[in-house]
Amino acid sequence: MAKPSVRITAATRGAFAARLLAWYARHKRNLPWRRDARDPYRVWIAETLLQQTQVATVIPYYERFLARFPNVRALASARLDDVLKAWEGAGYYARARNLHRAAKEIVARFGGEIPSTVEELLTLPGIGRYTAGAVASIAFERDVPVVDGNVTRVLCRYFKIESDPKNAQTQKKLWKLAETLLPRGRAGDFNQALMELGATVCVPRKPQCAACPLRRSCRARQLKMQDRLPTKRAKKKLPHHQVAVGIIWKGKRILIAKRFARDLLGGLWEFPGGHREKNETLARCVARETREELGIEIAVGAEFAAIDHAYSHFKITLHAFHCRWVSGRPRAIGCAAWKWIAPRDLARYAFPAANRKIIARLV
Ligand code: SF4
Repeated sequence: MAKPSVRITAATRGAFAARLLAWYARHKRNLPWRRDARDPYRVWIAETLLQQTQVATVIPYYERFLARFPNVRALASARLDDVLKAWEGAGYYARARNLHRAAKEIVARFGGEIPSTVEELLTLPGIGRYTAGAVASIAFERDVPVVDGNVTRVLCRYFKIESDPKNAQTQKKLWKLAETLLPRGRAGDFNQALMELGATVCVPRKPQCAACPLRRSCRARQLKMQDRLPTKRAKKKLPHHQVAVGIIWKGKRILIAKRFARDLLGGLWEFPGGHREKNETLARCVARETREELGIEIAVGAEFAAIDHAYSHFKITLHAFHCRWVSGRPRAIGCAAWKWIAPRDLARYAFPAANRKIIARLV
């Protein structure tokens, strides 16, 4: 990998931290989780939500989640269904399942107190190096670094690091750099300042260099390379799947099925159905999937909606058909559970986003 083109001396380090911290003191955003930043539970929930999700989207979820589960014990004693319902729409549901599992472990292994060291935090489900560093530094003022997408962008530009930041070697280098730059005793503010700079000034497109506290010594700005750094990998074309599901009516009730906990979107409810096989019509797909998943026969009617939705690694078009139950008592063969419910009760269950769009049209 390319070596950073700025030599890091004690003076460089001191100036970097001083400028960044002074800028942060003046410009930091007033975000709800910063109001009580010494509460590790709040930091943990916020940092978990902020992985993969924009700040503006996170705020209402954060506030709802905190109101519903105000502390570790409340989260640990909640039903997973309720946790998933509170998370509904935020996506990446493994985060919610892991929060729930980790809360139980914190109660069982740490007496309900969130541990303060990176090493202990890393033993909890769903907590990786980034979240452990964020909780330990922000809530407990431990001198540990964090590297997320924002920090990566700032460091790659400032030090003109041209190798792929997703590469393991480059990652190692970035973590080392972040640690070297850390002013002892100010890690919480410093880490937040670096992330804040990446989120608001050193943004992916058109960074606001004129407003940047690091502009004088930034290599990318000096060489007009801001738009080329960090180096991007060529994007792979995402596979696109056709999925067919049934709104299966029996009188005035609809059949819903719960996904296995181990699967993608695990623990969420959905309309029965699945991926179309080669040379299969969408209507036959719904009938086959329902038979395999629940052991019932249905009559497939008209297509009711077609929804496009993109996940991180693939895209789907979700085709929803009105169907009528014909025979058989449902059995949980290819799902964790099933229920006949009235359409007005759909709002009580957590559904994935694409199913939610169908529900919005249905009711
Ligand atoms: S000067 Fe520009 S490119 Fe360099 S760190 Fe600041 S905003 Fe980013």
